[in-house]
Amino acid sequence: MIRVQSVAPDSLGAELGLAPGTELLAVNGRALEDFLDWEFLTADDRFVLAARMATGEDVEFDIERPEGLAMGVTLEPPRIRRCGNHCDFCFVDGNPEGLRSPLYIRDDDYRLSFRYGNFATLTNLKPWDAARIVEYRLSPLYVSVHATDATIRRWLLRNPEAPDIIPQLRWFTERGIAFHAQVVLVPGVNDGPVLEHTLDDLYGLGSGVLSVSVVPVALTEFSKRGLVREPTRAECRAALATVDRMATRALAGRGGPWCYGADDLYLQAGEALPDAAWYGDFEQRENGVGAVRYLQTRIAAALDRLPDLSGRRIGVVTGTAMGPLMPQVLAGAASATGGRFELVVVENTLFGRSVTTAGLLPAAAIERALAGRTDLDFVLLPAESTNDDLTFIDDVRAEDLAGRLPMPVRLSYDFADALTQCGMGNVECGMAGGTRSRPDTQSEIPHSAFGIPHSRGPNT
Ligand code: SF4
Repeated sequence: MIRVQSVAPDSLGAELGLAPGTELLAVNGRALEDFLDWEFLTADDRFVLAARMATGEDVEFDIERPEGLAMGVTLEPPRIRRCGNHCDFCFVDGNPEGLRSPLYIRDDDYRLSFRYGNFATLTNLKPWDAARIVEYRLSPLYVSVHATDATIRRWLLRNPEAPDIIPQLRWFTERGIAFHAQVVLVPGVNDGPVLEHTLDDLYGLGSGVLSVSVVPVALTEFSKRGLVREPTRAECRAALATVDRMATRALAGRGGPWCYGADDLYLQAGEALPDAAWYGDFEQRENGVGAVRYLQTRIAAALDRLPDLSGRRIGVVTGTAMGPLMPQVLAGAASATGGRFELVVVENTLFGRSVTTAGLLPAAAIERALAGRTDLDFVLLPAESTNDDLTFIDDVRAEDLAGRLPMPVRLSYDFADALTQCGMGNVECGMAGGTRSRPDTQSEIPHSAFGIPHSRGPNT
């Protein structure tokens, strides 16, 4: 059973009398478990819907959907499938105390993987889940592989029951399901020959594995550090060399790099990022792969739409990861608008210095960095530091932060979105919300806008 949260006016749902609290029981006699059932089973033009109305009355609707008329039903958030692994590098365990409760949920949910691109390990799949993935063609999925050697993967996941990933992926790919994979690089465990072997195995699965990213493990001040540590510069370089070898092979064999190092891996290795063209469609951008180049691409595409900001001083808040790379991004925006862009690099006071992504910046740190900055005409804040409710990780609402700052601020994903909306003569940069579509659970947090996403997603 799933329950209606809201119904859009002028929709089919409203016409039927569905309302908040209505229980949606079955479609064509098939019980509804979650949003996937709802979406897939009601996709036809004709179906029979069994519902229990808010009054308690059971009703069966024989529906013939007029063309173009949406059901218009928003469901209550699904119960998140919890993670059964216990990775030593789990970011949830690296959370400080006192954050809002959803941030302590360790999700491992193939449904969110399909819908939002969250990485899942597939270790908690039941046979009916696998059948459902195939039936509904939930593809592509995003899967945390880490290592294809079953023993090493189990050690990393701290889950002796974790199934062997290669047969699992093969079973799916043979049935038309594709994957984007990631390897969270834990030095001394799944780097070196293990990484070579992992990439080789994944490549051997053929076109069903669409891409693989290699992401350096990220720990916070609160993480358990007994078994894992962050990689050194030399270890990042070695991993990049392995990635490059694999990418060279893939370029020759498949016409694209297929295997990508996360931006963070390049940063930590002290090596230059590849050009934007390297990343193709930026398919793992949300995982911090090509995020910097993507941002530059977005700005370049919007150059002719950017307003004249001559004489304006614009602050741009970012995390420490992006600090060194941001000047090259800002240069394009400055020359296009005539504005003076000033980078405000903010250290993460909540998670500690090791967490460098802008996406996890607490409002308190931003407020401290901008206090007294009356010289700035307005400031762009990383939109992905906030959740759907425009609330920062330390539970401060964006509008409250804005009210405490001495200048107008605007949430922005990529500069272009915020700057193109700024008035020219009068810089009207009030707080604007980006649309957020993910539920507020742990692993979908911050894929940062102008910070390099690395911690939340990849460590899953
Ligand atoms: S990192 Fe991901 S897979 Fe590992 S314990 Fe945490 S939520 Fe589970």
